[in-house]
Amino acid sequence: MGPEAGVKPRKVSLFIGGKWVDAADGRSFDQVSPATGDVIGIVADASPDDARLAIDAANRAKRSLADLTVLERSELCARIADSILAAQDRLAPELSLEQGKPLKEASDEIRFAASLFRDAAETISNLETSFMPTVNRDKRVFTLRQPHGVVAVLTPWNYPVGIPSEYLSAALASGNVVIWKPAPSTSMIAARLVECLLQSGVPEGAVNLLYGGAGPGQEIVANPGTQAVGFTGSTATGTLIAQHAGAKPLLLELGGNGPTIILDDANLESAVVGTAIGCFTNAGQICQSSERILVTEKVHDQVLDGLVSSASRVRLGHPLQTGTTMGPLNNQGVAAKMDGHLQDAIERGAKVIFGGQRAKGLPTDLYYQPSVVDQVSRDSLINRQETFGPIAPLIVVRDVDDAIAVANSCGLGLCASVYTTDINAAFRCAERLECGVVNVNESAAYWDGRTPFGGWSGKGSGVGRLGGIETVRFMTQLKSVVLDVRYPDER
Ligand code: NAD
Repeated sequence: MGPEAGVKPRKVSLFIGGKWVDAADGRSFDQVSPATGDVIGIVADASPDDARLAIDAANRAKRSLADLTVLERSELCARIADSILAAQDRLAPELSLEQGKPLKEASDEIRFAASLFRDAAETISNLETSFMPTVNRDKRVFTLRQPHGVVAVLTPWNYPVGIPSEYLSAALASGNVVIWKPAPSTSMIAARLVECLLQSGVPEGAVNLLYGGAGPGQEIVANPGTQAVGFTGSTATGTLIAQHAGAKPLLLELGGNGPTIILDDANLESAVVGTAIGCFTNAGQICQSSERILVTEKVHDQVLDGLVSSASRVRLGHPLQTGTTMGPLNNQGVAAKMDGHLQDAIERGAKVIFGGQRAKGLPTDLYYQPSVVDQVSRDSLINRQETFGPIAPLIVVRDVDDAIAVANSCGLGLCASVYTTDINAAFRCAERLECGVVNVNESAAYWDGRTPFGGWSGKGSGVGRLGGIETVRFMTQLKSVVLDVRYPDER
């Protein structure tokens, strides 16, 4: 399959109160494919006024899912999973063209999204609450888990079907209604996901969709008409969201700068394979990416050679072209950050061993060469901040303790991976790394979607945990019910 030249841009409307509508002020923005540079969509650009309309509609529909039985909600989620899977062949190429990822990765993401709805269906139908021991013989106390009401969901562009599905599946299964604002650069695929929800029978007004940036985003976070906020995105935006959300329940999944630690005793073959997956999957645009590769002197040369060989096998190209294993970056902001981090590293003494710049001769300047950089200094931006591009930067460490110190010196703490055959070192790293997830002898990019995922307290990677029952816990609130069991004549 080749570039889709000459395709007429698709008009994409907001979805408010069960209807596809234009923005109230009639504004729209062009959706440009990072793969081709073509305008592929004309997207309604929501203002805070549209956000308020969505909030009103959601509040009118507030009981629509809460009043269903748990099993009815579970069945709804299972139907959504089926609907997403049935649409996979249509959705995957659209996702590739809009986001930039190769078709195989787009298909994987859509199947992952479907699995999240299936998991939420199962989790909610098995959710138990407690009947608690009490201090008073006449009292009985039990707990209920109830929905918050209207949940604002704000999501990024790197997994524009998968990440929203983490929130939407648990929110709907738990009986909430949702106002969702995806990242502007992946608005079109968001509309497709909502179509799948509607085909499955989501009640009118229970899901509302707004496109645009900070304007509508801030409104749905701050407005008292929403009762909880789920946000995945950058640390900078997440910090603003926390300010605007005030005392609402908040789940923040923010940036990472994940260390991959490769120790002397590691199985180097599998370490290199896993690290390359962690660096180059989705062109490095994963919060879990291997952002810093910490190697001991003893294994440095072999790891470097292995990563150069992996980078040379990456097939950079149009995401729908057969054989492509890496597509363009999604937007100029992320490409410019990659330029800046490389420049900074070079100025501080790093050596580019492979790649190191935007590729030439491709339809847009968002195609970035897979890059391997050696001798990255500890004070470089690469070690201190998230890069979010296809880069494998090596930093030499003395031993496991030095590796942990370098890893923890960063102000972010989301995920890490460790390669070692020493069980003691594996435990030491798992326990001492200041992050929410540690993968041992597994790529940094691995996550099965059902296990707790999130940032280390006090670092800039977020608050709370996503994943399986954790997301359902976030999407519900606990209520304690006290019952006095005395008969009237005993009182
Ligand atoms: P971003 O913070 O720029 O945007 C995220 C969302 O917030 C978008 O929908 C955006 O339009 C919206 N937004 C922007 N400003 C806003 C404001 N003032 N008020 C309300 N909403 C606002 O992030 P991005 O560039 O889309 O995504 C990349 C980032 O997401 C990376 O840092 C990455 O690490 C992070 N991320 C984290 C996880 C995780 O699970 N921890 C997963 C994926 C991505």
